[in-house]
Amino acid sequence: MDVEGIYKEAEALLEGHFILSSGNHSNRYLQSAKVLEDPKRASILAEALAKMIQESDIEIDTVCAPALGGILAGYELARALDVRSIFVERKEGSMELRRGFEVKKGENILICEDIITTGGSAMEAAKIIEELGANVVAFASLANRGFCQRQGSQISPKSECKLPTNKPLFALDDFTFEMYTPEECPMCKTGSQAIKPGSRNA
Ligand code: ZN
Repeated sequence: MDVEGIYKEAEALLEGHFILSSGNHSNRYLQSAKVLEDPKRASILAEALAKMIQESDIEIDTVCAPALGGILAGYELARALDVRSIFVERKEGSMELRRGFEVKKGENILICEDIITTGGSAMEAAKIIEELGANVVAFASLANRGFCQRQGSQISPKSECKLPTNKPLFALDDFTFEMYTPEECPMCKTGSQAIKPGSRNA
């Protein structure tokens, strides 16, 4: 599956000169929500991810996504796996399970994001699920920014990765970018102006 091609076609993977949320500059930018704009494309991606998970023989009862970014990916993945779909959301700074959603003691939960960068939100979701007595058995995302190591990838994890090494991360592809501080950015040196995608003027 040409995951990068699908992201480019959806304008979810942009090429140019961008300011990342870290403040660094890059010639690539992921606008993850765009790949889910077309429900058919979303289900094709989720089915491919579900296939990887099913081949691992890990038993999943429920997919849980951290809101907001993970909800659509989590829902589509749950549909493809034919399991329940729930989400946790941030309330006054900390993640909570709300809206009548419940987890059972011993229930096997997979935490799903649209993209895993360092895995911070996924880990917050995992923490609340485990506090409620369920088991977090795996993590999944459509795209992996290459800080964490996904199943089957040769890219080794970076120190920024917050996900545990004893639980698998399933993702369709690695999206590793060249990143530069603004001072060292070769594109800035040619006089090009970096933009922030997602902002109104981008
Ligand atoms: Zn630059």
